[in-house]
Amino acid sequence: MQRTVNTKNLQRIRFGAGIRHELGTELSKLGGTRALLLSTPQQSDIAMDLATGLNGQIAGIYSRAAMHTPVEVTEDALAHLLDVDANCLIAVGGGSTTGLSKALALRKNLPQVVIPTTYAGSEATPILGQTEKGVKTTLIESRVLPDVVLYDPELVVSLPVELTVTSGLNAMAHAAEALYAHNRSEATTKQALRGLQAFIKSLPRVVECPDDLVAREETQRGAYDCGVVLGTVGMALHHKLCHTLGGSFDLPHAQTHAILLPHTIQFNAVEVPKLLAPLAELFGSNQPGPALWEFGRQLGAPLKLRHFGLAESDLDAATELALAKPYWNPRAVTAEGIRGLLHDAWSGTKPRNY
Ligand code: NAD
Repeated sequence: MQRTVNTKNLQRIRFGAGIRHELGTELSKLGGTRALLLSTPQQSDIAMDLATGLNGQIAGIYSRAAMHTPVEVTEDALAHLLDVDANCLIAVGGGSTTGLSKALALRKNLPQVVIPTTYAGSEATPILGQTEKGVKTTLIESRVLPDVVLYDPELVVSLPVELTVTSGLNAMAHAAEALYAHNRSEATTKQALRGLQAFIKSLPRVVECPDDLVAREETQRGAYDCGVVLGTVGMALHHKLCHTLGGSFDLPHAQTHAILLPHTIQFNAVEVPKLLAPLAELFGSNQPGPALWEFGRQLGAPLKLRHFGLAESDLDAATELALAKPYWNPRAVTAEGIRGLLHDAWSGTKPRNY
């Protein structure tokens, strides 16, 4: 995926426990007087709480955001947006809710405030993936980049531990692939390593104590750094494979990233060991794939694609799909290599040198 937009100076980013209470002020700065507040059905309570605190700046609430931004959901939300005559958007939730906000911003060019509650990082990118009739397409547009992001650790406390771990590994995947991106720079590498370090340090702490707000904020700062690099440089094999498997075999987003990451990184480490050495060093290791796998295992991350409905008999088709459209990767992508890493990710084996 090629990048052309530098997100850094285009967004207003704020961190802090309770920062969501600044939502009204931030909306006013954007000229937002009639907000449409978005969430998933599971997070409609948080949306209601936010709306209650907003003193009449709310035009409506739409709580049907769904994974992979289905176009029919966007069209339904758009009809609601027009109905209530909203002039700005608020998204509270993970990448699915942010995706809906971006899809509406794309269509109506409205300002957006995002309050992330996972570590997916979509709020920091001008990237939007949308699904229509089972096909997911991705675009990059500065108009979809949210104007304001409020990272409130109090809202991440409720993220279940398993999703905390997989979402954290999903964020780390953006930064890991940024280390060998063909259009990386010294600045992106530095930011990627900062994001990785934040998770390596703080993810074990939030798993042990999910309501540690200091550690939660550190993970959110990591998510922002990882999100920015995702939006700044091109991704490669890992993201491509997650995209393909997620779309074709209906695998869950964050879990698929978490399981595949050690394997895809080890596959590429064979070709670019020096570029991935700083990642391994953050774990006190010289092998980034096994180090990531061990980190995930200790945090209770899922390790086996077979637990998410992928059958062994699907692996040949998955390999074919992964090879179907050429894309840039630091190492040539071969059927043998992909089949090997997919098998290990399917069965839960520690990554090898594929
Ligand atoms: P998600 O937004 O689908 O959330 C998963 C579930 O967790 C939902 O039911 C949600 O309501 C719930 N949840 C979220 N935060 C919670 C919290 N704090 N407490 C309790 N429950 C909570 O998951 P995600 O992994 O954040 O996002 C995945 C989607 O984001 C995918 O569609 C992916 O393609 C997209 N994405 C896009 C980008 C981009 O730059 N465009 C980047 C990353 C991810």
